[in-house]
Amino acid sequence: MHNKSIVELGAALRAGECSSVELARHFLQRIEALDGELNSLISTTAEQALAAAEAADKQIAAGEAGSLTGIPIIHKDIFCTEGVKTSCGSRMLDSFISPYDATVVSKLKAAGVVSLGKANMDEFAMGSSNETSWYGPVRNPWDKSRVPGGSSGGSAAAVAARLAAAATGTDTGGSIRQPAALCGITGLKPTYGRVSRYGMIAFASSLDQGGPMARSAEDAALLLQAMAGFDPKDSTSAEAPVPDYSASLNDSLEGLKIGLPKEYFGEGLDSAVAESVEAAIAEYKKLGAELVEISLPNTGLAVPTYYVVAPAECSSNLSRFDGVRYGYRCDEPKDLEDLYKRSRGEGFGAEVKRRIMIGAYVLSAGYYDAFYLKAQKIRQLISDDFKRAFEQVDVIMGPTSPSTAFGLGEKADDPVTMYLNDIYTIAANMAGLPGISIPVAPVAGLPVGLQIIGDYFAEARLLNVAHKFQQATDWHTQVPSGF
Ligand code: GLN
Repeated sequence: MHNKSIVELGAALRAGECSSVELARHFLQRIEALDGELNSLISTTAEQALAAAEAADKQIAAGEAGSLTGIPIIHKDIFCTEGVKTSCGSRMLDSFISPYDATVVSKLKAAGVVSLGKANMDEFAMGSSNETSWYGPVRNPWDKSRVPGGSSGGSAAAVAARLAAAATGTDTGGSIRQPAALCGITGLKPTYGRVSRYGMIAFASSLDQGGPMARSAEDAALLLQAMAGFDPKDSTSAEAPVPDYSASLNDSLEGLKIGLPKEYFGEGLDSAVAESVEAAIAEYKKLGAELVEISLPNTGLAVPTYYVVAPAECSSNLSRFDGVRYGYRCDEPKDLEDLYKRSRGEGFGAEVKRRIMIGAYVLSAGYYDAFYLKAQKIRQLISDDFKRAFEQVDVIMGPTSPSTAFGLGEKADDPVTMYLNDIYTIAANMAGLPGISIPVAPVAGLPVGLQIIGDYFAEARLLNVAHKFQQATDWHTQVPSGF
């Protein structure tokens, strides 16, 4: 049952082959039996899940089921969920029970999904390996001595291990695509503004974007359909109409122009990963696509620029966690200053503190022009690179991540090496563009992701391009052994 896609599960539910309650129980049992070691979930919500599944079964019986009715998923613990702990992977929010649902959560609820629990993640979504979580690291189901990627590492590991049919994730610099790549699943970061950020705990507001993490592009299309759309509660949410993402999945790729940025295939890319990505691109040629070499000359500036912009925004966003209004509060503060200092000192982990300090520094009076303002200008140059590229090509392809999953602890003490993991994903966030990662041929038993970047609001095209590959290959159906 757990190996079925959302499309197949939906059909089974509507045909009465199983009930949503049975499905929820089955996945909850798998979580119980298999997640001890993986640590992909921070909380499970069995009671709420079974109640939602019962309601879904009634809808199905009444013939009112939609494509997501009764489908078990998990939410990244960055999304506020009413009445359920929403920790954001931090000690700071360990005791926070959200009084409301994020828009993503309420939209998926309205579509009838059954939430089984909340996924582990890097603290406040800062990380590429899930090792910064207050709740401990997540293990990669393909090799438990390795990381699942991050920051949506719990979501990716749980979907790969078939502990849920799909999951939600968020992507500020690669956090949907990179863990999707390292865990062998399909992850889509939509255009900035496509999916509401209301109730999604803010890291870097001008970059953060929620999206689906699933087994296939076909499943991701169903999830995005429910998640996307204008939200008056998010002032940066886009008013653009939401197309039918499933309708164009099978469109022909004949004549599709694929841009291959030379900067994405150079130094720093693992040669076996490069081979696997090139083989996938060759498959696209067979499907009728045309390959065009392009250049994104400012690629090398994306990571350093991100590490000015993202910390700046995080230092501002995280100033609300002061030990007074909500979140962790230290014991017996001596005075107000002691309360602030110790609450934040004890509530935040090392990576979060590092970012807050960098952010406060680059925003400070004497340095603002030299760092933050300059970073904003470079951000524009990065966007312009893509603008020029999309005058020539329909989509851009390359590796999602420079290597396969690395060992737990291997990069944890070296922030810069860790940051370079997002070298191919960050630019899309800087420009606000959509990107998808899909599994291609593994290297030494470990998953590899192909990244496909599209123009603004080209999600339907990305899903179509991903789906056609998944129709021609079966890398996305592979399951780690033991799951
Ligand atoms: N790995 C990047 C970081 O640490 C991106 C994280 C994300 O996309 N949330 O900031």
